[in-house]
Amino acid sequence: MTLIVQKYGGTSVGSLALMRNVASRVAEVHGRGEGIVVVASAMGDETDRLLDLARAVDARPEPRELDALLATGEQVSVALLAMVLRSIGIPALSYTGGQVRVQTSPIHGKARIEGVETQRLREDLRCGRVPVVAGFQGVNAQGDVTTIGRGGSDTTAVALAVALEADECQIYTDVDGVFTTDPRMVPEARCLSRVSFEEMLELAGQGSRVLHLRAVEFARKYNMPLRVASAFRTSPGTLICD
Ligand code: ADP
Ligand code: ASP
Ligand code: MG
Repeated sequence: MTLIVQKYGGTSVGSLALMRNVASRVAEVHGRGEGIVVVASAMGDETDRLLDLARAVDARPEPRELDALLATGEQVSVALLAMVLRSIGIPALSYTGGQVRVQTSPIHGKARIEGVETQRLREDLRCGRVPVVAGFQGVNAQGDVTTIGRGGSDTTAVALAVALEADECQIYTDVDGVFTTDPRMVPEARCLSRVSFEEMLELAGQGSRVLHLRAVEFARKYNMPLRVASAFRTSPGTLICD
């Protein structure tokens, strides 16, 4: 069976209307009988809003509590997205990082994913269900909630794709794919149809936030094909592979 991991970024799940758009895309893959796991980020600018709240209390919030707060953004997204999927007849189940057991290193705010348990997700897939997993978060050895750095939902998606031996990891966002440079800054930027892992590492390392650096490092290490495409338009996007 083909298995795809699809990640939807903040702007792609920024409202219920946008979640319905995501749901119809997921339904298309599910309807073809393919396995699909969805990873979602927090709605719109929710992570920034939560950060502002924390900083209004304390300029340097306690890292453990900050992670507990920031992780709620993705939890709202996955619960709502699972409800939207169910409303159109797709048997979806939401999961926090802790529920899946996305195991991370101890450091709050920039934890590294060290392992992903797949038992429950595999069982869902076997039964035709669609797991909807919160990006950006995991748990450390103590069981405390950790986050893996801004933009980290991309890395969650790749880690799940690798652990589940998926065929492709698709990153859906608000631009058509990976461009020569940021298309919002440079209107002449060109969308690339194919990029090597090395070229993508260079782009991500230069601070192009279209993909989290660790997501690219992880994908290269395990040779997981990555595709970046628009969540709103039908376009093949950019394939990042060997
Ligand atoms: P998401 O919320 O979907 O994860 P991000 O904001 O993290 O989206 O990443 C997408 C943004 O990355 C685009 O809106 C674009 O402005 C920016 N970006 C920067 N460099 C590039 C690039 N080389 N190609 C495409 N997008 C880029
Ligand atoms: N919501 C988190 C952030 O804003 C993670 C992500 O978007 O990937 O950084
Ligand atoms: Mg991002």
